[in-house]
Amino acid sequence: MISVDYEKCCGCFACSNSCPKSAVRMIPSDEGFFYPEIDKALCVDCGRCESVCPLTQKKEETGKMPEAFAAYGKNEEIRKDSSSGGIFSLLAEEVLSAGGVVYGAAFDESFNVRHIEISDKAELSKLRMSKYVQSLVGDTFTSVKEKLSKGVTVFYTGTPCQIDGLRLFLGKDYDNLICADIVCHGVPSELVWQKYLLYKDINDVSDIQFRSKVNGWLNFTLVIKSDQKNYSAIFSDDPYMKLFLRNVSLRKSCYDCPSKGLQRRSDITLADFWGIDRLDSEMFDDKGTSFLLVHTEKGRALLNAIQDKIKIKQVSVSDAVKFNANAVRSEKMPEKRDRFFSEIKGDKPCDFEKLAKKYCTQKTPAAVKVKVVVKKALKALERRK
Ligand SMILES: Cc1cc2nc3c(=O)[nH]c(=O)nc-3n(C[C@H](O)[C@H](O)[C@H](O)COP(=O)(O)OP(=O)(O)OC[C@H]3O[C@@H](n4cnc5c(N)ncnc54)[C@H](O)[C@@H]3O)c2cc1C
Repeated sequence: MISVDYEKCCGCFACSNSCPKSAVRMIPSDEGFFYPEIDKALCVDCGRCESVCPLTQKKEETGKMPEAFAAYGKNEEIRKDSSSGGIFSLLAEEVLSAGGVVYGAAFDESFNVRHIEISDKAELSKLRMSKYVQSLVGDTFTSVKEKLSKGVTVFYTGTPCQIDGLRLFLGKDYDNLICADIVCHGVPSELVWQKYLLYKDINDVSDIQFRSKVNGWLNFTLVIKSDQKNYSAIFSDDPYMKLFLRNVSLRKSCYDCPSKGLQRRSDITLADFWGIDRLDSEMFDDKGTSFLLVHTEKGRALLNAIQDKIKIKQVSVSDAVKFNANAVRSEKMPEKRDRFFSEIKGDKPCDFEKLAKKYCTQKTPAAVKVKVVVKKALKALERRK
């Protein structure tokens, strides 16, 4: 029987999908992150849940380096509606055109994030664009296995820990499975997100974009649309985004993520090419450039299939990672992280502007403090003269 480590469990759902007795349920903690809960009356101690857990099954280090690319899609509409260069949509379209299915993160009717399956290009917009909330995988691993055994091509996308969970759940490679993960900063909980939406108090929300490009790709903007009013704020001005980007609202396991690195269980990794403006101005127009890591032949073949639809340049892995440390290293846990979550817990409404002010203020560096003290002392001296 799996013992739940609340510091390290990433909430990938591999254990709940694997249980032959349905004894593992995923339950939200008081921080709003989902963890396995085992019904001891149903558990037969078969050990299946432990054997598929990314915590117990370390990644095999092959020493093989991925190929790295800067790329973006030529279709301006798709690129505009995507977080980075719109490469996910083009890869997904390729799979759908060949009769395959695609899994990824979509909003449900309450704007919670869930993994869903699509088989029609018309539904692709549901999966498009980053949603900065942990997506619940549900029983999608089980349905992927069914699809694979029927010979259907499956393109499964998600965070690196979700891909680790899926691969371990399946236990073997399938020729008809392609996996794409993202470079992941970490994930906030559903509770933080829902409390933020409550705080914004916007009725009848019709659409939410975390990465709208209305102010450009670099100045990405959170947009909440409704019939009555629209809310729009650049990432640095919005309290939810500040708490996310300053690492305050992340799941505990994200601060020490074993799924990061250059060797992954995915076929291809998708990310933003932060720093491309300095590295190669030809690949930068502030409309979004993707950073791609290709790990396998399968990933290479899928990328080759969309060559005509993209502008692409190979880059050195170290150049690219220099600007995107999240590819290989976890964010540091802020000292006040747990205090933030103790304020968020429970039913009470929260003032996010106040929370961001309280938890996102960086300590003034010692050098700046000295400058301020010296300035004050000089001013006091001048006044005395
Ligand atoms: C929580 C999170 C953190 C990220 N952190 C970084 C980072 O630090 N550095 C970086 O370079 N890139 C990061 N990304 C990835 C980046 O934002 C883009 O998703 C990626 O570059 C793909 O962009 P695209 O234009 O090709 O496709 P898009 O259409 O923008 O992306 C769609 C893809 O993102 C997946 N997705 C969206 N939301 C989620 C979610 N909540 N959970 C799992 N999968 C999701 C979909 O399943 C689909 O595969 C992060 C994404 C997410 C969701």
